[in-house]
Amino acid sequence: MNPAQKALLEKRDGWDVGRNPRAVSRDELIAAGHKPMSAQKALRLRCLDCCVGSANEVRLCTAVSCPAWPFRLGSSPWRPPASEARQEAQRQAGARLALRQSPPTVHRGETQERAAPATTLPAEPSPRPDAQRERAFQTQATRSAEVRR
Ligand code: SF4
Repeated sequence: MNPAQKALLEKRDGWDVGRNPRAVSRDELIAAGHKPMSAQKALRLRCLDCCVGSANEVRLCTAVSCPAWPFRLGSSPWRPPASEARQEAQRQAGARLALRQSPPTVHRGETQERAAPATTLPAEPSPRPDAQRERAFQTQATRSAEVRR
């Protein structure tokens, strides 16, 4: 444990205990090696740590009573779906980002109107990434089971 990590501890009855994180500054956290992240991402990383880095083991985790279990794939099942307005705002933000990242190629002597690029975002909301991952996992699991037979 380095000195910055040790600074996250305090003495209680002569023993080292963790300090109250609400009384720890961001700078102290960063110095100790923590990175700013959402609670969901932290839970995902916790699950990966629990499973020695195996994303497949996290996916297969049977500890359904663990508080992290619903969050173990990095998303919250309790989060309400995005509103239509929010989805549209995300599509527009993606289109703006694509416009900034891929300027049109204009060859010498040519002129080209700067057209809006095709966005990588679908016009219709796509299934949740979790649903896609779930299908991919099920396909993989089915193939693995067939290979084992
Ligand atoms: S949900 Fe499973 S993988 Fe995640 S911390 Fe709990 S027991 Fe470990």
